[in-house]
Amino acid sequence: MGKEFVDVLVIGAGPSGCVSSSFLKKNNLKVKVVEKTKFPRIVVGESLIPRVMDHFEEAGLLPALDLMKFEKKWGARFLRGDDVCIFDFSEKFGTGWDWTWQVPRADFDQTLAQEVIKKGVDLEFETEVIAIQFEGTDSITTVKNKNGETKEIHAKFVIDSSGYGRVLPRLLDLEKPSVLSPHSAIFSHVKDVNRAEGQEGTLISFDIIEIEVWLWVIPFSDGNTSIGIVGPTEYIEKLSENGDTTEALRKAISLSDYYVKRFSEVDFLFEPRHLKDYSCAVKKIYGDGFALTGNAAEFLDPVFSSGMAFATESGMLSAKLAIRQLNGEVVDWEKEYSEYILYGVRVFTTYIKEWYTGNLQELFFHRPENDDIKRKICAVLAGYVWNKENPFVKKHDTVIKNLANLIKSEKSL
Ligand code: FAD
Repeated sequence: MGKEFVDVLVIGAGPSGCVSSSFLKKNNLKVKVVEKTKFPRIVVGESLIPRVMDHFEEAGLLPALDLMKFEKKWGARFLRGDDVCIFDFSEKFGTGWDWTWQVPRADFDQTLAQEVIKKGVDLEFETEVIAIQFEGTDSITTVKNKNGETKEIHAKFVIDSSGYGRVLPRLLDLEKPSVLSPHSAIFSHVKDVNRAEGQEGTLISFDIIEIEVWLWVIPFSDGNTSIGIVGPTEYIEKLSENGDTTEALRKAISLSDYYVKRFSEVDFLFEPRHLKDYSCAVKKIYGDGFALTGNAAEFLDPVFSSGMAFATESGMLSAKLAIRQLNGEVVDWEKEYSEYILYGVRVFTTYIKEWYTGNLQELFFHRPENDDIKRKICAVLAGYVWNKENPFVKKHDTVIKNLANLIKSEKSL
């Protein structure tokens, strides 16, 4: 069996793995990425939030992405019947990026991976991890390529960015159920021939069908649009009772008064995909000689598009800490990695839970709008969930509930 020796092995070439491997290479480490599939490949997660731009910039990946002319996302619109709430990231509380992109992930991830290769990272496609063995912080990973050939990769550190492959959580028994109730989604892309000119056609929108059921509409710059329905698993199962996801997504579109005309006649560009019980979690996000990043660690819910932001935040931080450790420093992974990342996860978890209780929807659609509250919520939606100067971050566990209760009691007077 062949053998390779590297400083860091990164599993998976999604956004998380590309950010970490690019940064490791920039800092002169010998890094290898193994990716199970061949790119381009279809993957969900097309609406970014501004915080990701910090990471792509620091990893040196922003100029290549910029050349792709993806659809600019400057905010997001939430619809509930005739009620409309638009967040504009340029009006958010605090500093940070005020725009990002809406991207077909096949093209986006392909661009990232090609750029990482251009930077000199050794990225091997169609090669999957099948086993791993640790001795202290050193590890030997067995990988298998498309021809069935295996080899060993000896690494001083492993970053698992394998997304739903969840390589180390499976191999090291780290899986744990999510704290969120089971939700599922069905999505596809359409050629958006009925798209209106200007902002109406290109603005990303979330149309609320019922408190826990919503439709996403994510227009891309190539004229296609991503459409998906999200709801409790039972609800989504009922929509696709006979397993026909095309019929299910058509039914879902017919439930949206706002979008039924624009999308009822259009063809899906691929058979709609059913993503069942998508939330996942782990018992711990690091261990001796490894860190879990992105969806390999935890995925919450798509409602605030936080997935990629956590994927790149954890990809970048794990790379920085691994560099320090390999340079001989003692790294406190509990404090510097786990506590930090999980703080942001907890903030978003609150917002997601309060979305599905309906409390956050009360705040979004309450009129007249309170500009100060809106700016602070907007900063959270932009992904700046570590800025404790924002009371909507620091007091996330009480502030939404309290304000929603106030609105409800005002209404009942
Ligand atoms: P991925 O992008 O999944 O990349 C992981 C890579 O690892 C894959 O290429 C895979 O092939 C590879 N791999 C897997 N197993 C192995 C193995 N054994 N060996 C080698 N390689 C392996 N996020 C957003 O930010 N915005 C959204 O709008 C959004 N919408 C979503 C909607 C739904 C319904 C769901 C379920 C998720 C959504 N997400 C969204 C989340 C988003 O998809 C993920 O957070 C994001 O893709 C995570 O990136 P990643 O790099 O961790 O993993």
